[in-house]
Amino acid sequence: MTYGYFCSMQNFKEASEKIDRSKNAVILSHRSPDGDSIGSSIAVWHFLKQKGINAKVITPDPAPDFLSWLDGFNEVMNFEQKATESAEYIKNADLIFCLDFNDPSRVGQMQEVLESNTTAYKLNIDHHRDPVDFCDLQFVNIEASSTAELIYDFLERIDELSKLNLSMAQAIYTGILTDTGSFRFSSTTERTHLITSKMIALGVQPDEVYRNVYDSYSSERLKLLGYALYSSLKLYHDERIAIIPLNAEELSRFNFRRGDTEGLVNYPLSIKNVQVSILLTEKDGLIKMSFRSKGEIPVNLFAKKYFKGGGHLNAAGGVSSNGMEETLKLLETNLAELL
Ligand code: 5GP
Ligand code: MN
Repeated sequence: MTYGYFCSMQNFKEASEKIDRSKNAVILSHRSPDGDSIGSSIAVWHFLKQKGINAKVITPDPAPDFLSWLDGFNEVMNFEQKATESAEYIKNADLIFCLDFNDPSRVGQMQEVLESNTTAYKLNIDHHRDPVDFCDLQFVNIEASSTAELIYDFLERIDELSKLNLSMAQAIYTGILTDTGSFRFSSTTERTHLITSKMIALGVQPDEVYRNVYDSYSSERLKLLGYALYSSLKLYHDERIAIIPLNAEELSRFNFRRGDTEGLVNYPLSIKNVQVSILLTEKDGLIKMSFRSKGEIPVNLFAKKYFKGGGHLNAAGGVSSNGMEETLKLLETNLAELL
């Protein structure tokens, strides 16, 4: 197995020393938090707390409810609701963890204050392609299933695996579970399962995590799923491409809550011929786009070319400010490129 890490052991020695000497840390992750960004952040938070370091997890916007059972979730602050307080934490930090993102623009409104702090020691732990050089230590492996998996690898390299406890294990397990689509994406490796097994040895109960993450939704969410698949799903090019557009009115009809469309983009992939699935959801006048593909179809390049986005070969995202109809038209015009 090849491992594309971008740093040497010397870097880890420095990182370890910087962590030991730090007093105030912040842990930042990308917009639209998910299981991996929150799981990774909470795991690092528990680690730093055990080291006696003041640490704060700050997300650009609120985290979805399906993660609220994680120990430490209630301590997570978000910039959207507490901009001034969040900015103070970031300004005063001497240690900044940047988790699960490859470009400072992925933290939205927090980018400016993140970049204005030039004295903190910054670490980037991530698995996205094409990382921008923006931290002192960039621990990046684009072949890792998840950032959560890399949190384990990082702790191993700085010789801190002994700090792992059940709360951290649940957070890491959740990050891996959600970013691998429950261990089914091609990013799932022997290493993924090895780390997962260690989390189980620490007390994680897979059935309990699964129930907490996937069986905790409202009835409206299930009806929205039914509606999206029955009424919204469109198929193109001999059913090789699927698009699900959901506008703001449709979402509000089902009392849409943050996280309700999580995983929806994967359903069309269960159709035999479907190679690419695209979900469009309208929020605050913007169209948020999620791309998924099977095999070697690089949806990240397509998302980058047309929708200021990016991500992984088989899972990417982007945004459009052109409204649903125009966005759909732009997509339909260029879909053939994906095949
Ligand atoms: P999701 O569809 O789950 O929101 O995102 C899938 C993948 O694409 C994630 O790995 C995420 O980091 C990436 N991604 C989502 N939205 C964006 C975006 O606006 N820009 C970039 N560069 N990547 C994105
Ligand atoms: Mn991730």
